[in-house]
Amino acid sequence: MSEMVSPRSILKYFLAVAQEEGVGAKVRRSIGTMQVRNFTPFLMLDHFNVSPPAGFPDHPHHGQETITYLISGKFAHEDFTGSKGILNPGDLQFMTAGKGIVHSEIPVAAEDGKPVTGMQLWVDLPKELKNCEPRYRDLRAKEIPVVKPNDKVTVKVISGKSYGTESVKELAYTPIDYYDFEVAPGGEFQQEFPKDFNVFLYVMDGSISINDTPIKQYNAVFFNTDGDGVVGKVPADAKETARFVIIGGQKLDQPIIQHGPFVETSREKMYEVFMNYQTYQNGFERAERFASSIAGGVKEADLVDGDLPGNKKEKAIKDEL
Ligand code: FE
Repeated sequence: MSEMVSPRSILKYFLAVAQEEGVGAKVRRSIGTMQVRNFTPFLMLDHFNVSPPAGFPDHPHHGQETITYLISGKFAHEDFTGSKGILNPGDLQFMTAGKGIVHSEIPVAAEDGKPVTGMQLWVDLPKELKNCEPRYRDLRAKEIPVVKPNDKVTVKVISGKSYGTESVKELAYTPIDYYDFEVAPGGEFQQEFPKDFNVFLYVMDGSISINDTPIKQYNAVFFNTDGDGVVGKVPADAKETARFVIIGGQKLDQPIIQHGPFVETSREKMYEVFMNYQTYQNGFERAERFASSIAGGVKEADLVDGDLPGNKKEKAIKDEL
């Protein structure tokens, strides 16, 4: 057990209200709302629940990273660089949009009809990296170290270090620590963060207590930077094990100008990004002829066995060549 952490105080907490985003898609957004427009380096957090035919067909991003953590079901992605794959439960995808990317994110139609659920986090890129080449990093569930400091607490160390256990690799350009906690009734937990990180948590299941403030399911909690980390517990009389993510990121000292999935540091640069996207240049060249093969839907039966890559449609195209 590590030494005592001085707890950060709560800046703000609130319920992430479910919004319908078209037929079959429900999103609980916390960051990126009127309550918290952004929380540097974080731009958006969505807890999504999506079933075919809903999905997120071909759309662009610029100047940011997206981190997708799949909780249940299967989620297919494909972009104009040729990258393509499937996320299974417990897998993460770290996508750096950099100067520009166009991609599709589509839930795979499951034979049991169950929805696809997960968390998508948008992270700002440092201004000197806004125009970097797009990049993907996948983190498979089996690559994530799990630490059990006692019989009530289990932590998946997605990125960072928890109870002495470190994650495997650098995944994002902007320094991010990301932990998935499960804490049984009566359990206490703590998680350290560097001083220059902003930190929040989001409760997926159950309820917890932070600095004696009760926090219910689907609430997001934002912290001040006055302590070394986050300290909390699950009340002994709680009915279920709580599951929540605690996420921190290095604060960026730069303006945030955001128009949907385009993120820049000035209005002039934002105007250039719109021009680049509309005229297929400076990173968006490949958008002109790109149409993803998955935008119309992916069935479980279409998937090639194994983690990656892609589906039979693409394999058939490759075999023809
Ligand atoms: Fe996207």
